[in-house]
Amino acid sequence: MLFDKLTTYDHEQVLFCNDNATGLRAIIAIHNTTLGPSLGGIRMWNYASDEEALTDVLRLSRGMTLKSSAAGLNLGGGKAVIIGDARTQKSEALIRRMGKFVNNLGGKYIAAEDVGMTERDMIDVRAETPHVTGLPEFAGGSGNPSPITAYGVYVGMKAAMKHQTGSDSMEGKRVIVQGAGSVGRGLIELLAKEGAEILVYDIYQPSLDAVAKAHKVTIISAEEVYTTQADVYAPCALGGTVNPDTISQLNCSIVAGAANNQLLDEVRDGQALIDRGIIYAPDFVINAGGVINIIQEVEGVAYSKERALSMCDRIYDTTLNILKTADSSGITPHEAALKIAQARIDAIGHNRLFM
Ligand code: NAD
Repeated sequence: MLFDKLTTYDHEQVLFCNDNATGLRAIIAIHNTTLGPSLGGIRMWNYASDEEALTDVLRLSRGMTLKSSAAGLNLGGGKAVIIGDARTQKSEALIRRMGKFVNNLGGKYIAAEDVGMTERDMIDVRAETPHVTGLPEFAGGSGNPSPITAYGVYVGMKAAMKHQTGSDSMEGKRVIVQGAGSVGRGLIELLAKEGAEILVYDIYQPSLDAVAKAHKVTIISAEEVYTTQADVYAPCALGGTVNPDTISQLNCSIVAGAANNQLLDEVRDGQALIDRGIIYAPDFVINAGGVINIIQEVEGVAYSKERALSMCDRIYDTTLNILKTADSSGITPHEAALKIAQARIDAIGHNRLFM
């Protein structure tokens, strides 16, 4: 039963970590290390069950393999989850114990920040292992990746617009942004600069107040996110929002956003979007800015924001290429992106056979 889950996406290694003294219960999943050490964030979340935590870490680690490969980075895919409430159960001792588990993997897994973790927590992980990234800039790291992720989503969205209309201009285009968090805010700023019409929804009122103060945006309701006529729907909150229920309501021609695992079912929902004439810019391709930002830390070079942004520019051509391949091969953009990411892994894996 357990190994069936590991064989579904061909995971290399999964480590269950337990420490009674600190209350740490965590899972580290190493999906694939063909291209390099597996890198991915540590997520701390109050999972309803151990099963749910395992499913999440397996899905997310596979996503990291695909993301790094499609972005042309020499990194594999990994992820870690800590089971617990980040607000009430997190302590320095627990995070440092986690750091020791990461250290024991000898660099096969490189940690970073994810939901429920902060840059400050990465400093605690760093106290126990050098195999951690996403440290604050004052500690020699690359800092908050969200503005770079937002930039990557923006260029991916422009590529999808180019594919659909022949022009990548977002001026006057109506974009619905779902989630005005770290990435959503950055995306809104870039779109506003280009003269897009922005409609936004967030469950957290202070986030809406902040964007409404900074930019000319229209605040819409939860239901209107899916039904309002727009050029682009940008999911920047949760995964799984593109599903049979929402696809039937969508009144847009492009889906392009930051959230991971946007399609509830990759095959079914990818095809349903095509059937409705909606272009999908694959999430793991256009939200790669975060890992692109971190690669400089892995390489051990001084952080340059300019270099991170210019590496993100490649997302434009990659997205265009994927959309063209999907059209010419009669497959979904998600399938085309998977093929391109997997082809690089297979080719480099083949080269590794030779000394
Ligand atoms: P965040 O926590 O800063 O922001 C998420 C926002 O979504 C919050 O303001 C929250 O209130 C809102 N939200 C939650 N549920 C919602 C709902 N049902 N409807 C509308 N809004 C809702 O997170 P973030 O860093 O901005 O990341 C956004 C998404 O992008 C996440 O799915 C994340 O996994 C993904 N992502 C982020 C990065 C990054 O660099 N931060 C990189 C890759 C992918």
